[in-house]
Amino acid sequence: MQKKLTSRIFAGILAMGLLSGCGIKNTENSEDSKNTIKIAYLPITHSLAVLEEAQELENETGTKIELVKFGAWSELLDALNSGRVDGASVLMELAMKSRQEGVGIKAVALGHHDGNVIVVSNAINSASDLKGKTFAIPHRQSSHNILLHETLAKGGLTTDDITITELAPTEMPSALASGQIDGYCVAEPFGAMGVSIDAGKVLYTSEELWEDSICCGLVLTDQFIENRPEDAKQFVENYKKAGNALDAETAMTTAKQYFSQSEEVLATSLQWISYQDLDITEDTYNSLTEKVKSYGLSDNPPAYSEFVINNLD
Ligand code: ZN
Repeated sequence: MQKKLTSRIFAGILAMGLLSGCGIKNTENSEDSKNTIKIAYLPITHSLAVLEEAQELENETGTKIELVKFGAWSELLDALNSGRVDGASVLMELAMKSRQEGVGIKAVALGHHDGNVIVVSNAINSASDLKGKTFAIPHRQSSHNILLHETLAKGGLTTDDITITELAPTEMPSALASGQIDGYCVAEPFGAMGVSIDAGKVLYTSEELWEDSICCGLVLTDQFIENRPEDAKQFVENYKKAGNALDAETAMTTAKQYFSQSEEVLATSLQWISYQDLDITEDTYNSLTEKVKSYGLSDNPPAYSEFVINNLD
């Protein structure tokens, strides 16, 4: 167990909420809501495939994706778990936890491949240098937490050897620069931001720690899948097409439209991630559930057969 996990979530949520200025608009016209698919997301490069798809789907089919932006995972989960949105691009572990607690959702695709880095202060040169240091992750239920465990193992350390803190992604680069923390792992582009302001450097990329890692997933509510099967099928097909279309150039064009970071930060970030072939394979999912169990994130994650659907036929 991570006994030293300190709760800084609330400060983080507050900071993110102020930044995001987001919310859900009421769809007053029922015709509108019939043709609209509401998808929740956070403004991170990990959700780029759904942002890319949103630009294309309405042109092709007349069905509109209403992107609902959130500033923090906890707010996004509230909307997803209460059925205020039809789906979300979300950390897979958080979605698994919701499913485990009885929320009717299915994972229908990956968010991306790879795409995470372990950023550490310039004074740290190996995993074993993290002994006695403070490391930030966005949420206990995340692949960032798993990647931290893998990093510590490389240095012969465990979570007992460091202090783990939860911080909002936006706070991490400055917290590293000020020395408040010694390292972090979080959704992009916040790793790239830390590097670009020279607060730290990359110690490991995710593929050096965990081959075929899973991080974010696209999930849909059971209600949406059951009530609008054709829309759900088309949405998932187009999502995967959008992912396949995200080569380096297209990813940069779309990222610049949605994110306020500089082109330099986005370019650094996008070199670590890919969006092709976003099916969730049984092997990679089972490897995730093994890690979730062995690192104490959850004792009872949902099985592949009850949680994952790759084709809505
Ligand atoms: Zn991710």
